[in-house]
Amino acid sequence: MESKAKVSNKTVRCIAVQAGAAKAFKPGNRVAARPVWDKDRCVRCGVCYIYCPHGAVVRQEDGFFDANTDRCSGCGVCHRECWFGVIGMVQEA
Ligand code: SF4
Ligand code: SF4
Repeated sequence: MESKAKVSNKTVRCIAVQAGAAKAFKPGNRVAARPVWDKDRCVRCGVCYIYCPHGAVVRQEDGFFDANTDRCSGCGVCHRECWFGVIGMVQEA
């Protein structure tokens, strides 16, 4: 029986999908974009925390999450992985 599964060719513009690229990031580097959380929509599941390749997502005392800007590479993985589209990427000036 022939498989009906489809393969997506969607390209994600993210430093982390390029092999080895995430390792090139040095904490403190200037980045193109920063993640911004919309706490009103966040369910505090922690998926963004788990997936961040730089350990830059930090859990705050109220249970919500934010980025440590000294460690964040602007890769957008947190933005991509959030179930509910809570995290936007804002261009740095
Ligand atoms: S993945 Fe999305 S919903 Fe879950 S904690 Fe992070 S921002 Fe909130
Ligand atoms: S953009 Fe998100 S996933 Fe990427 S380093 Fe910053 S906090 Fe982590």
